[in-house]
Amino acid sequence: MTVRMDEELIHGLKTLAEFIGVYCARKHADTPRCAIVLKTHDVEAIVGSPVELCAECSKLLAHAFTKRSTCPLEPKPACKHCPDHCYHPAYRARIQQVMRYSGTRLLLSGRLDYLRKMLF
Ligand SMILES: [Zn+2]
Repeated sequence: MTVRMDEELIHGLKTLAEFIGVYCARKHADTPRCAIVLKTHDVEAIVGSPVELCAECSKLLAHAFTKRSTCPLEPKPACKHCPDHCYHPAYRARIQQVMRYSGTRLLLSGRLDYLRKMLF
C-alpha cells in the first residue's frame, strides 16, 4: 500500500496518535503497553516520539491510521461531517470515546491547537 503523505495527512495521523496515546496512558495505565509498530506507517517518525499503547488501543490506532490514510475524499471533510463513515462500527464508537476523553484533557491542559482541527 502506498500512502500519500502530505502535511495535512501527517498532522491528522499525529493528532490521532496523540489522542489515543493520552487516552490509553490514563485509562489503561494498569495494562501492559509497548511502543506501537505498524507495517503501513512509521509511527515514531510521524509523531516525533514512540507511542506506547496497550494491545486494544494499538488495534484502534492501526485501524484509524489505515482509514485516515486511504480516505478517498478530496478535500477530506471532518469525519463527523462525512457522508460515508468508513470506520468499522466497533472502532468508530471507540474512537469517538477517545476523542471526547482526550479532547477534554487536552483542552483543560491548554493545548487548544489540537482542537483547532478536530478530526471527529
Ligand atoms: Zn489502551
